[in-house]
Amino acid sequence: MAVPADSDPGNPAPPALDLPAVHASHSGCWLRGVDLFPSTRTVGKGEAIVAAADTPLLMLNAPLVASRLGYPDLSGLDLLELYAFVHPARFVVPTPKGLANALGLPQPAGDADVPLLLQQAAQALLATTAAPDWPEREGAWSALQSMIKLRWPWATLLTGQIARPERAERWLFSRLPEWDEAGERPQPAQVVLDPQAVETRLATLTGAGAEDRPGQRAFAREAAQMFAPRRGARQPHVVLAQAGTGTGKTLGYLAPASLWTQQSGGTVWVSTYTKALQRQLRRESARAFAMPPPGSKAPPPVVVRKGRENYLCLLNLEDALQGGFTGRPAILAHLVARWAAYSQDGDMIGGDLPGWLGTLFRKRGIAALTDQRGECVYAGCPHYRKCFIERAARASAEAELVVANHALVMVNAARGRDVAQRPTRIVFDEGHHVFDAADSTFGAALTGAEAIELRRWVIGPEGKSRGRRRGLSARLADVASYDEGGATAITQAREAAELLPGDGWLARIGEGTPDGPVERLLAAVRATVLARDESGGTEAGYGLETEAAQLDGPMLEAAAGALEALEDLRQPLLRLTLRLEAIVEEGPDWLDGQARARIEGARSAIQWRTDLLAGWIALLGRLGGPADPDYVDWLALDRSDGREWDMGLHRHHLDPMKPFAEVVLAPAHGVLMTSATLTDGGDWSGAITRSGAARLEVQPELFAAKSPFDYPNQAQVLIVTDVPRGDIAALAGAYARLIETSGGGVLGLFTAIRRLRAVHGRIADRLARAGLPLYAQHVDPIDTGTLVDIFRDDPRASLLGTDALRDGVDVPGQSLRLVVMEQVPWPKPSILHRARRMAAPREEGGAQGHDDRIIRARLAQAFGRLIRSAEDKGHFVVLSSAFPSRLLSAFPEGTPVRRVSLEQALQSIAGRVDEAVLASKVESSP
Ligand code: SF4
Repeated sequence: MAVPADSDPGNPAPPALDLPAVHASHSGCWLRGVDLFPSTRTVGKGEAIVAAADTPLLMLNAPLVASRLGYPDLSGLDLLELYAFVHPARFVVPTPKGLANALGLPQPAGDADVPLLLQQAAQALLATTAAPDWPEREGAWSALQSMIKLRWPWATLLTGQIARPERAERWLFSRLPEWDEAGERPQPAQVVLDPQAVETRLATLTGAGAEDRPGQRAFAREAAQMFAPRRGARQPHVVLAQAGTGTGKTLGYLAPASLWTQQSGGTVWVSTYTKALQRQLRRESARAFAMPPPGSKAPPPVVVRKGRENYLCLLNLEDALQGGFTGRPAILAHLVARWAAYSQDGDMIGGDLPGWLGTLFRKRGIAALTDQRGECVYAGCPHYRKCFIERAARASAEAELVVANHALVMVNAARGRDVAQRPTRIVFDEGHHVFDAADSTFGAALTGAEAIELRRWVIGPEGKSRGRRRGLSARLADVASYDEGGATAITQAREAAELLPGDGWLARIGEGTPDGPVERLLAAVRATVLARDESGGTEAGYGLETEAAQLDGPMLEAAAGALEALEDLRQPLLRLTLRLEAIVEEGPDWLDGQARARIEGARSAIQWRTDLLAGWIALLGRLGGPADPDYVDWLALDRSDGREWDMGLHRHHLDPMKPFAEVVLAPAHGVLMTSATLTDGGDWSGAITRSGAARLEVQPELFAAKSPFDYPNQAQVLIVTDVPRGDIAALAGAYARLIETSGGGVLGLFTAIRRLRAVHGRIADRLARAGLPLYAQHVDPIDTGTLVDIFRDDPRASLLGTDALRDGVDVPGQSLRLVVMEQVPWPKPSILHRARRMAAPREEGGAQGHDDRIIRARLAQAFGRLIRSAEDKGHFVVLSSAFPSRLLSAFPEGTPVRRVSLEQALQSIAGRVDEAVLASKVESSP
């Protein structure tokens, strides 16, 4: 064991592992050897790469180090992999500082200290595995035996540490608990909440000594109205509540919700748009709903429910562990198995599986372990009674509060397996996103990627594909052997699915040799889109689209051929559904509970596909005919970085709130939509239209509470007028100077990925040399959630990103003190956008009013990232030489707004500005 030569003798440092370590940032590389007197030295990229090739080096986040060194094949002893093995399902920010914090080690003062930290961290983690009180010991020895065979770099180091258990360890699939079947719940009692009781509940939740927030109390009383008994069929109570940031709306609606569930025995769904809010709800709801003691078998009152594609599928994992995955993906499977044994709920995307784990393994390993393709065999699965997805579905049926996202709530309302479990009392938090979520949920896309998924679902694996994936005939083998009609339908569906695009479809279309009617349609779509490209080649490499109008003969012929093929597939699937229904009714001897559940599951999966096919057929059927004013149809070719990855036809509702009103609102009894930016500067007309309430002739209750924050003194908006639009060098220079002046803590928002990358490429090294780390979406090989965790954890870090960061970031305090928008966030001039702006009513300002409303909403959301608590202070900068004054109402009332030069903005941010001079420039505090 080496003792670090540069340790402070007065404060003995923890021991370091006797292995060389490397660290690379945008400002350089550091290597620490294992000589007699080890020291850390600066090295060039080439030397670091050679050292890594010679001997396994300790490193943190190998893909990130590889990207910093510009050497994608780099490998070594990644501390994150070791952490995932030793502490599965435990949170860590994957940075040197985050690792030090998680392990109780001294934080590195700078880049040069990181290699020593890596050695100390490795030593600490290995020591943990030898300690008798290692909480995550169970299963480790068995997992290690498999990982030795896979030549996992850490395996040899762990071998001497982890003792063989005295008794054989149970393997994961027998360790996981089984869920219990529960009886049907009675319908909720009809109750009217007493406003005083609601306030009392709120006071209990906020706790004694909490500051009095009249806005929050009023909000809670208003929210309670959604729980009143419904007065007529298709007449839900709809409450629209705008609550400025800091109102405390989460507890404001949890107070009446918890009271109502207690009194009525019903379930409330809270729907969010971002994972950040889901996490917050998980925390805050623990105050409102009595949690069972640890180890209790009582069902949890609060359940976070996600789409099934988020959860680990145990059958897929078993397959991966037993040879379905090889090489590095197999190591990932073992780390996921370690995690599964300790996970709270098996949620792989945004749950307790570290978001960074998948990116360490580069390929789509995580996705392959979920049930992305809907191939679940339900009760036919040996892990059905332990399945995380089934557990979540059952838990939500018994829960008092279900936390979900907008898309899942809509899908569940449309085609939930059990009608009795469909949501009827729904709080849409982040309600300004309901329109967009409805837009994608109720839209149809007949693209190559979608069609090949359908083919795989029907046919199963073809050619060289491995794994357990099975087609329809294998999933319903018992039905086929019992029922002749069912067997025929399955065979016909299989034959028809062969006309859908198969493996290699993109290459065939690129080469002009499409195979089958649907590939021929896609080839015609591609040819049409390219023929109509209006960009003069300036959009080369990026997505293109054209409206589905004035289509020529060959295109319409291809559409007719594809329509016929899709109908040939839909018909046998419809017949199969009827046969399955008949079998359930006949109840043959072999149809025990498990078989029944499996057939029910298959029926709902087939229904979903027949609905999908019906949507595609309707889309094709209208091509060439008169335009339907309720829909917008277009053709698209999806490309990124010059590579084509999908193409096809799209159909969206002109107003997606029309299907939303039918599917979600009409069957509901009470709906609350709330957000800090629900209205456009206090104008309710758009918010009412976008709630869908008018479609049912329901008069929504309207409520508004102002933010309690002191915006005039907490925030400043600076519109920088002298950075020319389109000048990347000037844009990058402005970002660099703003970040330097602010000392980091900057969230940079872009409307185009290519500009983001160009700016990042020009300034990351310069900032790193100043000790200001810069991270970026679409550049760093790190998932967005982890990027935000890193940003939150380091006040000197800055983060660049696009739409997802505009309202998915909740970073109170010092880590976020400056938001910079590269330009006015104009809407993307897509076919869909053009159709909606042309259809915008005159009383709402017509086309320009439509655009302005979108821009103001985006500005308001971006501004909302800045001030998250009463203590926060910060600047909001927009780089725009011509920022229209009519957009200023996006900012909260009283916020000072100034048009300034970049120099003046820098002075203001640095606190060197003569505020008296600038005060004369205040343009508007609407
Ligand atoms: S029941 Fe379905 S989702 Fe669950 S483990 Fe089995 S196949 Fe996977």
